[in-house]
Amino acid sequence: MKRIFTVVVSLGLLASCGTTKEKKTQDKVSEQTESSTETNVASDASDEENSKIEIIERPHYNPSATILTDLKHTKLEVDFMWEKSQMNGVATLTCSPYFYSTDSLILDAKAMQIHSVKMEGKDLNFKYNDANFLRIKLDKEYSRDEEYTVVIEYIAKPEEKLEGGSSAISSDKGLYFINPKGENEMQMPHIWTQGETEASSVWFPTIDRPNQNTTQEIFITVEDKYKTLSNGKFISATKNADGTRTDYWKQDLPHVPYLFMMAVGEFAVVKDTYTKPDGTVIPLHYYVEPEWEEHAQAIFGETPRMIEYFSELLGVDYKWDKYHQVVVREYVSGAMENTGAVVFGDFVYQTKRELIDDNNHAIIAHELFHHWFGNLVTCESWANLPLNEAFANYSQYLWDEEFSGRDHADYVAEKEADGYFQSSKQMGYHDMIWFDYEDKEDMFDAHSYNKGGRILHMLRYYLGDDAFFEGLKKYLNDNAFQPVEIHHLRLAFEEVAGEDLNWFFEQWFLSAYHPKLNISQEVAEGKVTVNINQTQDLEKAPLYKLPLKIGVYANGEKASYDVVVDKNINTFTFDFEGELENIVVDEDRTLLGVFTHKKPREWYVHQYYNAPRYKDREKALTYGSRLQAPAGKQLILDALEDDFWYIRQLAISKLNKLGADKNQEVFEYLNTMATSDENSQVRSTAISTLANDFFKAEFEGNTRTILIDAIEKDSSYLVVSAALNGLTKGTKNDVVKVLKFAKDLEKERSSALKAQLIGIYKNFGDVSNIEFMSDAITSGDISGYDAIGGVLNYASFYQSQDVKTRMEYFYVLERLSNNGGAYVNAVLPMALVNLARAEEAILEDLEKQSQELESAGKSGEATVIQGKMDQEQKYMDKLMLLIENVSG
Ligand SMILES: [Zn+2]
Repeated sequence: MKRIFTVVVSLGLLASCGTTKEKKTQDKVSEQTESSTETNVASDASDEENSKIEIIERPHYNPSATILTDLKHTKLEVDFMWEKSQMNGVATLTCSPYFYSTDSLILDAKAMQIHSVKMEGKDLNFKYNDANFLRIKLDKEYSRDEEYTVVIEYIAKPEEKLEGGSSAISSDKGLYFINPKGENEMQMPHIWTQGETEASSVWFPTIDRPNQNTTQEIFITVEDKYKTLSNGKFISATKNADGTRTDYWKQDLPHVPYLFMMAVGEFAVVKDTYTKPDGTVIPLHYYVEPEWEEHAQAIFGETPRMIEYFSELLGVDYKWDKYHQVVVREYVSGAMENTGAVVFGDFVYQTKRELIDDNNHAIIAHELFHHWFGNLVTCESWANLPLNEAFANYSQYLWDEEFSGRDHADYVAEKEADGYFQSSKQMGYHDMIWFDYEDKEDMFDAHSYNKGGRILHMLRYYLGDDAFFEGLKKYLNDNAFQPVEIHHLRLAFEEVAGEDLNWFFEQWFLSAYHPKLNISQEVAEGKVTVNINQTQDLEKAPLYKLPLKIGVYANGEKASYDVVVDKNINTFTFDFEGELENIVVDEDRTLLGVFTHKKPREWYVHQYYNAPRYKDREKALTYGSRLQAPAGKQLILDALEDDFWYIRQLAISKLNKLGADKNQEVFEYLNTMATSDENSQVRSTAISTLANDFFKAEFEGNTRTILIDAIEKDSSYLVVSAALNGLTKGTKNDVVKVLKFAKDLEKERSSALKAQLIGIYKNFGDVSNIEFMSDAITSGDISGYDAIGGVLNYASFYQSQDVKTRMEYFYVLERLSNNGGAYVNAVLPMALVNLARAEEAILEDLEKQSQELESAGKSGEATVIQGKMDQEQKYMDKLMLLIENVSG
């Protein structure tokens, strides 16, 4: 699963959630302190006090589920009652006792109506009191070498499931009917499912635990106009007498119940293939809404290359029947790796022109990689989730490294690491393999993903590529179709490398936090002593063993030294000849940790030109550009021509250090970059910088021309958006131009641009723009991360309208709260609360006015104000009701 929470965290929008977590952690700490104090008190206390000793419990621990029954085969026959958002199902389950003989079968079955449970046509007794577990009494006691089959007839009623969910997965209804009655003309009616973590049991009875796996067949009966998708191979389509059609999908390889999926709708299906080394052709279909058909290949077209690359890299062929991908609306997460039938949220809908700025290859790679790590080999418990997600996260690095280059991969990895640092600061630190989580959904955090990916990267660099990938191959082959825990991974690497790796797994997977290193050096004649101190709090973090490379640059030469940092205070001395030019600790730039390394700014300048990694150049530009000497300024100018786009973008932000006498030169640079840099991020930064710093005095005219040219001619929506925004910083006349351009651009199919237009209308528009804004925000045209800014800007504009307009467009808020999807849901509650606060202020103000008028004896005018208050109060009541429903 690809979660969407980091952006929300980085925007600080989950503040309330973060606070809750913080509190939980504090509670835990105080509990521990209390119990240790009490133990001491008890030992000194009198007998009378001793009799009051409280019971001390073992720490909370989430084990893997005890396996009573081995689920072997699942056959489902389903059809839908769209009007009621319900599903008729017949589940035929083949099972056997796992070890101990038993006459009972306990299944997870949530919010269902169970009609019957039968074995060979005879009714079995069952209990289904709590609408959670279906407890079946078998006809006799079975032993583990006996199989039996039960047939369950039921109705799935997902709307009756009490909702849970998490920051990663915003709901756990399992089965979702989107616009089932076709009431919203803008949206295609369709159905999709979401199993992870344990929500598959909302749509079929199963043992909904990650340490089960089962083969699968499913018969889906639909009206003939619909396409269906499920796991496994498409076997047949049969027309029924009543005009419906039954599609039959079958998967002979076992997988975990949370990976089961279905999607139904009038999708367009774009067909692609991947040919395995043995010549087998694997179908790859892209299921999209018909209007997206022409873009499907551009969105998903790298998939065959990814399968080929990952299969080769891992030395383990893609095992499953096919690899189809489907885009759905109102999805509750980012994407989900259902075996051979991956679901994506609508943020992946991008036109070819939008794909110039950004693509979702990383997410496509992430879900694909799960087909080895997660689907072929599955974590046995949610506490072991990093065995799925750390690998999927790391696949994004592997893909970037191969196809976009090491700089790009390192740049994204750095952002991933920052995601971990930021979010764990807010949400708290815990062991990677987190046995004492409070809610299994909490596992889907920046530890399992971001930190997990970085740990694997360190392990790869420690072992070397040969041992690392050989270890992964062994792990996959030894544990295929089996549940695993973290030790399986360690044992595979240990066997391949012939080396004990407990120390590595202990400190990174089974402990919390990360290293903090304080680095300094003392230089004497021909010798340099590098001091590396571990300064992390050893109460909560381990004292790490860190094998590192130190690069010593002197006299135009570099020497690399392998060292091991394993004490709190570490000292390493190296000889050098001539002039010492730089020291780089962690030359490979793989270590996840916080460093403080004070070194001369001249060294950073040297580092920019001589150290090979992205991070070397990024740090060099950040610190070296502070050097007042000409070399510092030259560094900025050279970085404008760096091969890697982000360094060029960063260099633009340093141009202000060049001083006013360089203005003409800087303007020329920005002009060139704004018009001809190959990367649209760089062009848009150059445009924004021109608008901020040069849209005045002697540069005003030329800047205006550059901005207008960009709006009219640049192929990138990102650049067009930046130029529009930039032009608003000019004269009143420029703003008029912007509004005219905006009007023309309303028809463009770009989520980012539409979100930008909402921002512009919020600041410069009027009530005549609300129609477009309302359409854009409710039609699904603004999706993914853009929806977050879109909703906030819309709400702010909406609040500034009069009460009549607010009432008229209240349906927009209602629609967003009903059908928002994961991104909207992340910010809507806060936006609504802000609206209520603003309204409260309006009401208080009117109340005050009315009282003042009353006491001044102006009761006529007071009555007018009270009339206004009534209107506002009506709106407020509606708003409060909506807030109650949303938070309800
Ligand atoms: Zn994932």
